[in-house]
Amino acid sequence: MRSGTLRLYDTRTGEKKAVKPLRNDNIIRIYICGPTVYDYSHIGHFKTFITYDSLVRLLKYLGYDVIHVVNITDIDDKIINRANEEGVTYRDISEKYTEDFLSIWKRLNMLPPYALPRATYHIRDMINIIEKLIREGYAYPADGNVYFSVSKFKGYGEISKQKIEELIRGYRVEEGPGKKDKLDFALWKRSKEGEPSWKSPWGEGRPGWHIECTAMSSRFLDPPFEIHGGGEDLKFPHHENERAQTNAYIGGEAVYIWMHVGILKFAREKMSKSLGNIITMKEMLKEFSPDLIRLIILSTHYRKQLEYSDDKVEEARNVLRRIKRVYKKLLDYREYRDMGELDIDGYRERFIEELLDDFNTASALNIFMSFIDRLESSIDNNKLSREDVTNALALIEEFKYIYGLTLEDEARLDEELLKLIVDVRGELRRRKIYEVADMIRDRLREMGIVLEDVGDKTIYYRI
Ligand SMILES: [Zn+2]
Repeated sequence: MRSGTLRLYDTRTGEKKAVKPLRNDNIIRIYICGPTVYDYSHIGHFKTFITYDSLVRLLKYLGYDVIHVVNITDIDDKIINRANEEGVTYRDISEKYTEDFLSIWKRLNMLPPYALPRATYHIRDMINIIEKLIREGYAYPADGNVYFSVSKFKGYGEISKQKIEELIRGYRVEEGPGKKDKLDFALWKRSKEGEPSWKSPWGEGRPGWHIECTAMSSRFLDPPFEIHGGGEDLKFPHHENERAQTNAYIGGEAVYIWMHVGILKFAREKMSKSLGNIITMKEMLKEFSPDLIRLIILSTHYRKQLEYSDDKVEEARNVLRRIKRVYKKLLDYREYRDMGELDIDGYRERFIEELLDDFNTASALNIFMSFIDRLESSIDNNKLSREDVTNALALIEEFKYIYGLTLEDEARLDEELLKLIVDVRGELRRRKIYEVADMIRDRLREMGIVLEDVGDKTIYYRI
């Protein structure tokens, strides 16, 4: 196990808290609010999921066992509307987009979660929880619906830092028959004609949105648990309501750290035509490598909003290019010295320190890149010992693991052909036919394949 304690900003208390197992075990439990599967996933959703994937990776790197659960909201008004528009069942819609979500999850080199539960598979749990909330006076049935009584729960508004009066003013409160108070929210909704429905003690109906997360986090993580995550747009009403329900249900504080990821905004005016329409991950993955997408996301601190633009993409592309170049040079390095000059452990320490301070992947990346630059100059000047090379490779591997990168080139089928082109170009250069050699290099560059001449050798990589 590595030393050092990770501290994360807890939205509710406004403090950075030490992440440690709440129980006498080595496990960090994380619940992440997942997608509502009514459309293709886009980069905004995956800003959240990539962030948590890297966080899980860091926790594993630090030596913890991690149980992380990502729920799938497979019943919701949006899903029902979409199904009605297309004349199919809600399940056709939810399964189609769940599949899209899972395939992107895999493509992006994300670790498999401990569980990816679908809401509709946990209706029984939800009903049991609602029954207990009614018994204990936190909820009341009305005309086939069940509502949570917000005024019964002390501490409502702590996550979104709003007073109840402000919440009422700022939020379009859902109307509901039999609701006693404006802010009360539905735990169970009586189903309308033609809607999917489940049997319950209050008649045919379906769950409200928030109760599913209480049910699934209780089922898989047995609250209290260490970390609850999601996008910052979920603070209110979703997390405020979820916290009220779960705390009332278990009779205590259910979550130690509420962690929220800043949203992604499109700086549309800056986007080029070619990128302007790339919103879905499906489309984005046709043009960008998973490594590049992950770097775009992780080069901004998770709590900040990320303004997505061509410049941002270009920056990440540049970073990836430098890392890959130095990585290849290092793998080819042969001129060992007895004593190296690079303080690799110093860089590692500073790199990890930034990650431990509220998971600052942006600052940690900067430190790592200054290491990469220093490493490259040591390589170019033949100033590395055998030990340096091993240690530098280890640090790059650690970085790769935590950021979830492969640093591999995709489309390996074309690799042999590419090698041939590079060899032919080498021959042209030896014969001093530079014009043609440069043309080949430029054309490959346009295709995203970078050739760089290092002495009389040529290295190449894809970006
Ligand atoms: Zn949720």
